[in-house]
Amino acid sequence: MAFRNFKMIGYVIYGRGAFNQLDEIIAPHRKGGAPMIFLVDHFFESKELVNLTPVRDNDKIFFVDVSCEPKTTYVDSLANQLKQEFGTVSGIIGIGGGSAMDLAKAVSLMMNNPGSSADYQGWDLVKNAGVYKVGIPTLSGTGAEVSRTTVLTGPTKKLGMNSDFTPFDQIILDPELTANVPSNQRFYTGMDCYIHCIESLTGTFLNEFSKSYGEKALHLCQDVYLNKNGWDGSCDDKLMMASYAGGMSIAYSQVGIAHAISYGLSYLLGTKHGIGNCIVFDKLEEFYPDGVKEFKRMVEKNHIDIPKNICADLTDADFNKMIDVSLGMKPLWENALGPNWEKQMTRKRLRRLYELL
Ligand code: NAD
Ligand code: ZN
Repeated sequence: MAFRNFKMIGYVIYGRGAFNQLDEIIAPHRKGGAPMIFLVDHFFESKELVNLTPVRDNDKIFFVDVSCEPKTTYVDSLANQLKQEFGTVSGIIGIGGGSAMDLAKAVSLMMNNPGSSADYQGWDLVKNAGVYKVGIPTLSGTGAEVSRTTVLTGPTKKLGMNSDFTPFDQIILDPELTANVPSNQRFYTGMDCYIHCIESLTGTFLNEFSKSYGEKALHLCQDVYLNKNGWDGSCDDKLMMASYAGGMSIAYSQVGIAHAISYGLSYLLGTKHGIGNCIVFDKLEEFYPDGVKEFKRMVEKNHIDIPKNICADLTDADFNKMIDVSLGMKPLWENALGPNWEKQMTRKRLRRLYELL
């Protein structure tokens, strides 16, 4: 058996106010006159964070539109624009949730790889290292800050650029940046982490490495979402570390059924990752009985709305498209159900699961 030799992020800084060190952290990576490019979640346009961002000389901030999850066409247009305007850049700094961080990773890679980002959707297709890249989460849960993928919707599939070149060179974990996330969004993205933990900890790929991180992340999520005193600042600190540890857990294992099903929803209906996972997980009691029960308690305690009947008006062709996308996520199904998963998860059974949503 060959064990995975996985590439991790380069440097990590954690702490309230750590964002203020960004200037000195990136200084040694400035190459001549080549600018640093900040891809900042559009939520922060005209917010205080922009004034704290160390924009020097010909550096540039792009406020990235994350109303849809990142598309390969968007990545390509950002990278082409940068190549035309500057030739080369010193680095790409992604500031935001999973979407802005994934855009930053993908644009960094496309600065040094020919063609379209759609050519690299898959495993280990990226040929050259990207430019220096930094990830700064402002929303906790996805684990995108630590992962070796950047999830993109392309012309034919929703699939990441999974490669050893994908992880960030540096991440800055500053829980202060997550202070003002609206409570529904904070829940949906936080539950992405919770679901990562449940899927990793109950999966057939589990080993002690994944388990150590997964259990820690799970306990942090429980602390945060079942906290008797409601939300306070310490929850932001905890959830940021839960996201990190949850990401580390799946690095050496895999996610499972909620993700496999929600990928189909996202491809067909554009349902965003966090909320999509919640909509699906809510109906997966037969696969994850304890996790789903606890999830429902968290939903209730935090007064969250989980949308219902989102598949009510779909056609057979729509269901078939979602089923195709979902069953394409083979490692996820294998992690959840074992090597003979195809016998267990027939198209008919999966269709019934989609009809529940
Ligand atoms: P997101 O990045 O799409 O952002 C959701 C919303 O929150 C946006 O409206 C954004 O503007 C807003 N927001 C972000 N920070 C905020 C703040 N501090 N205050 C107020 N609003 C803020 O959401 P997400 O759930 O973090 O990321 C989802 C994306 O991450 C999907 O595209 C998914 O595919 C991807 N993802 C990637 C990985 C990976 O390993 N690369 C893992 C899981 C998910
Ligand atoms: Zn996820």
